[in-house]
Amino acid sequence: MERQIYQARWVFPVNGPPLEDGIVEIEGTRIAAVYGGAHSRAIDLGNVALVPGLINAHTHLEFSQLRAPLEPAAPFTDWIRAIMKSRFETEQPVTERIQQGISECLSAGTTTVGEIATSEESLRLFNADSQVPRAVVFRECLGFTPDRKASQEQVAAAFLEEPIRPEALPRLFPGLSPHAPYSVHPDLYLNLIQQARDQGVPVAVHLGETSAEYDLLERKEGAFVDLLSELGLWDPEILQDGMRMTDYLAPLAELPAALAVHGNYFGPPEWEFLQGAPAISVVYCPRTHHYFGHPAHPWLTMIEQGINVALGTDSRASNPDLSLWKELLFLREICPQVPTELILECGTLAGARALGFAEETGSLEVGKAADLALIQLPEEAGGGTGSDLLLDSRSDVARVMLNGVWIN
Ligand SMILES: [Zn+2]
Repeated sequence: MERQIYQARWVFPVNGPPLEDGIVEIEGTRIAAVYGGAHSRAIDLGNVALVPGLINAHTHLEFSQLRAPLEPAAPFTDWIRAIMKSRFETEQPVTERIQQGISECLSAGTTTVGEIATSEESLRLFNADSQVPRAVVFRECLGFTPDRKASQEQVAAAFLEEPIRPEALPRLFPGLSPHAPYSVHPDLYLNLIQQARDQGVPVAVHLGETSAEYDLLERKEGAFVDLLSELGLWDPEILQDGMRMTDYLAPLAELPAALAVHGNYFGPPEWEFLQGAPAISVVYCPRTHHYFGHPAHPWLTMIEQGINVALGTDSRASNPDLSLWKELLFLREICPQVPTELILECGTLAGARALGFAEETGSLEVGKAADLALIQLPEEAGGGTGSDLLLDSRSDVARVMLNGVWIN
């Protein structure tokens, strides 16, 4: 089989240091060699960097038609009210909205996504086409009152039975997403996680996104009590006394892979728990976090403690676009002291670990899938090292390769 051989000014394998004048060889759908140096048959891609395809570990593609984040951004419960209203008012078919989101992800260099879906449509779209990102599609379940338990468990079971084409299998898996502690009854929460455990599939939950969530769990008061009361769903008996965030994390530790999405307000109790629970990753959504105006995110503290931190865009309801590349540039801007290699790892290999795809993608390693993003570097004579240049604000995703095929 004819190899594709590319030379780039910089290659970032992620599992090792950046290579100046790097070569990546691809055979079929797989990476066959990665090294610094030269090759007589290499196609010179010029002033670019090759990085692993980016991994957007948290998004909701069914909101991809939104042109701007929904308002108001605060208080969070008012944003929830706005999103409930938007869901009701949208006329564009859900398949079109998800398609739009898939195209947007690809053009931003994203080759793997952790997608939250409220129907089977997303799973079917990812299943039907081969030129789509690798994905875990998590079926979202909501139900705060006990009467919703049975129907939501059936929804989850039916979703996990959706047929997946054998060709799509290594790139597509279903998962479950009990939405959040303020929207899912504790018994339903545990039952859904048990279902996922029985089927060996991953789970994603929004946890620790706001301080109001802690008011609800620890003291049964605050903005979520007001929202649930307004919806006619509040019953103080539903939450057992003294329920803690770590009680929501604990059952996730038993799964093959689990995402604690956001973790904006996680502190020492959650960090300590997560250190002993390697199956759970935290997904930090930098620009969404910024949109809501939360205090600084503890992602670096968690990484120092050995916790896997992946990155996500979340949806266009809280982010102007779905570009994971822009999340990396944003982190460079707000955390200039953090090494480029660490930021890139969060957007690639850490995401692959989080979604259970680390054997297949996340780094440029021999044998892994040939999923790549090609980054155009700024034109600057004598410019700095690859690490200085990669996340320069002028760098941008120019092309993306999926499974050994350039798709744009
Ligand atoms: Zn979300």
